[in-house]
Amino acid sequence: MHNAALAALGLDWLYVPVPLRAEAFEQTVRALPASGFRGLNVTVPHKEAAAALADERSVAVEEIGAANTLTFAPDGRIAAENTDAGGFLDALGECSRGWRTLVLGAGGSARAVVWALRQAGAAEVSVWNRTPERAAALAHALGARHVERPEPAELTVNCTSVGLGGGVATDEAIAALGLATVAPPAVLVDLVYGDEPSPLAPWVTRAGGRFVDGFEVLVHQAARSLASWTRQSVPVETMRAAGRR
Ligand code: NAP
Repeated sequence: MHNAALAALGLDWLYVPVPLRAEAFEQTVRALPASGFRGLNVTVPHKEAAAALADERSVAVEEIGAANTLTFAPDGRIAAENTDAGGFLDALGECSRGWRTLVLGAGGSARAVVWALRQAGAAEVSVWNRTPERAAALAHALGARHVERPEPAELTVNCTSVGLGGGVATDEAIAALGLATVAPPAVLVDLVYGDEPSPLAPWVTRAGGRFVDGFEVLVHQAARSLASWTRQSVPVETMRAAGRR
């Protein structure tokens, strides 16, 4: 996705995987600008460490406590951003102000989504998780509401790994997420993406609701990261098409 967009922008840059060991994370990151790196996307398990080492943090990074994007300034300063939050809102594509929302999960992606929904002005952000203590802690930290059982909502976001890797039937996913007795929402975003369609898609579309696939979130968070490094408007459709391929 990134390399297709860089080619379309006429930039002679490359997006490459850089495996980093947790114990050498900060030293390695600080060495990268000298090798010509402009920035990094950072994924699990380094997102908290990335937030901690930065010289400048966006409000999202400060409040979520995790960064997925580091940008190197010419003077060596490192700026941290969290594009998971904005990428989720871009993929949602409509204003959630005043909505009742339900976030399923209490891991890293749930933190970013809860924060984004609060910022976007959702009337209510409820958090449910298989391990309730984690949902309670996340809700408390980010000013959301913890629920013991999923409740009906206008927007539901699956931030669990249920469905990851495929081979999960709709009924199975619904049961794992405690949704069997809950009416489907008007909009459902499933952060999980893969080769198979989400098992949650039929649950919402059969009832006339809208389904947003995690692939869209992936594309939009990537586009925001690339925009941070290049300071250019990036070709999202080129990234989407390359990602599909
Ligand atoms: P994480 O920090 O590991 O959290 C995983 C969450 O899933 C936890 O809340 C966990 O509950 C829950 N869970 C796992 N197995 C479950 C099951 N069988 N039944 C019910 N709940 C279960 O993961 P993450 O980083 O937040 O990511 C979550 C998912 O979102 C992953 O599939 C990831 O690939 C996807 N994701 C997509 C994007 C995107 O751009 N589309 C971005 C980020 C993440 P417990 O606390 O009870 O263990």
